[in-house]
Amino acid sequence: EDAQYSMMLRTRSPGGLIPWQLYLALDKLCDKYGNHTLRTTTRQGFQIHGILKQNLKTVIADITRNMGSTVGACGDINRNVMAPAVPFKDKPEYNYAREYAIKIADLLAPQAGAYYDIWLDGEVAVTATEAPEVTEARNRQGDGTAKTNINSIEPIYGTQYLPRKFKIAIAVPGDNSVDLYTNDLALVVITNANHELEGFNVYVGGGLGRAHHNDATIVRLAESIGFVPVAKIYDVIKAIVAVQRDYGDRHNRRHSRFKYILEEWGVEKFKEVLLEYFPTKLAAPRELPPFKYQDYLGWHEQGDGKYFVGIAIENGRVSDREGLQLKTALREICETFHHDFVLTPNHNLLVTEITADEKETIQAILDRCGVLAPDKIDTLVRYSMACPAFPTCGLAIAESERALPSVLARIRQLLVSLGLENETFVTRMTGCPNGCARPYMAELAFVGSAADEYQIWLGGNFDSTRLAKPYIQRLHINDLEKGLEPLFVYFRNQRLSGEGFGDFCDRKGIEDLTRYVENYVAG
Ligand code: SF4
Repeated sequence: EDAQYSMMLRTRSPGGLIPWQLYLALDKLCDKYGNHTLRTTTRQGFQIHGILKQNLKTVIADITRNMGSTVGACGDINRNVMAPAVPFKDKPEYNYAREYAIKIADLLAPQAGAYYDIWLDGEVAVTATEAPEVTEARNRQGDGTAKTNINSIEPIYGTQYLPRKFKIAIAVPGDNSVDLYTNDLALVVITNANHELEGFNVYVGGGLGRAHHNDATIVRLAESIGFVPVAKIYDVIKAIVAVQRDYGDRHNRRHSRFKYILEEWGVEKFKEVLLEYFPTKLAAPRELPPFKYQDYLGWHEQGDGKYFVGIAIENGRVSDREGLQLKTALREICETFHHDFVLTPNHNLLVTEITADEKETIQAILDRCGVLAPDKIDTLVRYSMACPAFPTCGLAIAESERALPSVLARIRQLLVSLGLENETFVTRMTGCPNGCARPYMAELAFVGSAADEYQIWLGGNFDSTRLAKPYIQRLHINDLEKGLEPLFVYFRNQRLSGEGFGDFCDRKGIEDLTRYVENYVAG
């Protein structure tokens, strides 16, 4: 008998937009062909796990027929472009971020027809809605970016795509809901006093994937390289992608992300090389307010008389289980009201375009299905993230999604026992060092290092603007309390007024924390 291969499929959803028709299709597809659950990702897409290989074509065709796509959601190519999920209609900066997420996704979409040939028998089922200026910008020659690929069918990628995946996010000043600094390329919308779009501050070289026992693999925050006026943004994006295309390491995949170019060259050399592709010096970046993280859960006004509601999805898993019928709730809301969903970069979901007279019914559905209001969720859970890991990720070496709920419950219990019951911080867990749940930005992170064992990282911050640092290489999950108690005691006794756990760990430094813990254990 032939082997049965089980696959994962991920949607391409720039800015996290999930049309209601697509959601209903995904809901049915995961029941018929998947594992009866949907998984929201940390890059604003949906994943379906457990699709048998022979059913992939049917599933992809159905997604495409329902206003969705999977083109470029995986692979060595530009991945899903992130933007703040919130549909604020009275803050044009948010509209620009959403608009350019879609346009940049189109700019960097693969042009070859293989996807349509293989999965859709050559049919392009969704009418292309690409803006003409995007098509024109992609195919424009003479700016240097096409220098190795003039005759290629892929005007930006050339004949081989990129050395590795490439991640882009667009942010709004002051709002770090997209985890800006973790991207290969991040843009921040810059407007004038009339809220007209002037251009973007550009950041390059962020990335979190690494490997255990390999110090050559690094985590890195994106750095600012300047301001680009809106008329030039496509050319600059093409130029940046082309630098990675031409200089990224194509021999060693552990060294092939764009961040290694930045790490090894430094920003100044990068800017010099960039001039070969975009021959104008970038202006100085515009001044920005500090970035803050917000999850936008609960009810909010959109600014046009309508509302959106942010729904927490613990670890991104949309399922029905005892006490929580989240899958039923989302389907019912979708079927009844036909409102689009938007996924957030922290695997939560917003229901948008809700009128005042629909609010009550939607809240009643959420209540009946056991979906908690944000103020009823333990904040440790609310601000946590875990990657899928076992049983669906082939790279997992430790549990993550299935382990985090009990780990957080034990941490809460420990905090209560130490008189820190009101304390909260950002906790993230991954089943391997690849870092899909962005653990290296967390205040407390567990990175799978062996079955039931985790490397612990400390010292990121709530707003996700600072990298954490490795603290211990292996903590067995059975020793969780033993390992964390001394840290929490130290924090309780020596924190500054109002200081968060991540800030405390960062201020003390790993060496000091280690010394304290050793003395504590020695008694
Ligand atoms: Fe899989 Fe590792 Fe990503 Fe988790 S972090 S989903 S284990 S690749």
